[in-house]
Order: sequence, then C-alpha cells, then structure tokens
Amino acid sequence: MMFGAHALFGIISYKAPFLWMEEGRPRTIIGLTLAFLSHGILDAFSIFTYHEMNPFGTIFQKLVYFGWCAVAVVIIVYIVRLSRSYFLPVCLSFFFDIWDHLILGFIQCTTISSTSGCMRDFSPVIANMQLHRLEWFLLENFFSETPRFHDNPWFIFGEVFTITLLFFIFQKMHDNGNRA
Ligand SMILES: [Zn+2]
Repeated sequence: MMFGAHALFGIISYKAPFLWMEEGRPRTIIGLTLAFLSHGILDAFSIFTYHEMNPFGTIFQKLVYFGWCAVAVVIIVYIVRLSRSYFLPVCLSFFFDIWDHLILGFIQCTTISSTSGCMRDFSPVIANMQLHRLEWFLLENFFSETPRFHDNPWFIFGEVFTITLLFFIFQKMHDNGNRA
C-alpha cells in the first residue's frame, strides 16, 4: 500500500481505542501501538492493489508512483492540519518501511558485503529483523490461497477504493468528537 493509505489506517487504528477507553496514558499507548502495527496489517491487503509502480520504470509506472506520492502528501498535510496530535501516529504508520527499507538497508549496505544490491540480499540476521514479517505471517496464514493482483494495472482501483473507504472512516471518527 502507498503512504496515503498507511497514514489514514494508522490514524484509524490510533483512534480505535478512543471508542471504548477513557482518556489517559493507557489509551494513548495502545493507540500508538496499533498505529505502528497497522502498517503490517494493511500491507497484507496490498495483494488487492496494483503494486508494480516504479519511480524508474515505464512512464505509466512513474505516473502511478508519483501520483500516489502526491496524493499521500495531500492526505498527510490534511490530517496533521486537523490535529497536531495525529503527527506521531502518522509517523508510526510508516515505521515498518523506514526500518526495513532505510535503516536495515543502510546497515546491510555499510556493514555486510552484498552481491545483488543491499535491498535484495539481506543477510539472515538482517532478514530476521524485518518488521514486514508481520505482513508475510498474515499472508501465509490467512491469504495463502488468495490470488495476487499486484501486477495487474486494473487493480489501481483497489488502492483508490481502499483510500476512499479509509478516508471516510477517518473523517467520521474525527468528526465524532473523539479528538485527542
Ligand atoms: Zn510496507
């Protein structure tokens, strides 16, 4: 999934405990934990969205990639302008990608020799430290028989549908007054 969907689902997860818990530190901690875990859960559903976008690929792939980046910027600015308290959960909703792709990639590149590129050739120790293992666990245990659609351009509409749905859920939760 792209950053816009992760930001929205991260806030929805953060605000979920607001529905049944009183204000206080436990609610904040549970909310932030859910925002963090939301990334792995949402990524499991990316089998229903087109995911062959590539900033260095064909014109179509570039358009899709940078188009979703632009949408993500608009969504994140909108969310954080509604409430600054949404900033931390939004950051946490991206942490899987920051850790796996940037931090582990950097460690792999700088400390362990790699023959086929830092991102593709993780050593066993580094591979075990990847947070996306949560996504792979869910795919193996709940979606092992489900067909994958991430190389089918028509499934751009899977991402459009997901973002639209998440946006309405987020807006409803925000408007209901469960503000942080
Ligand atoms: Zn991810």
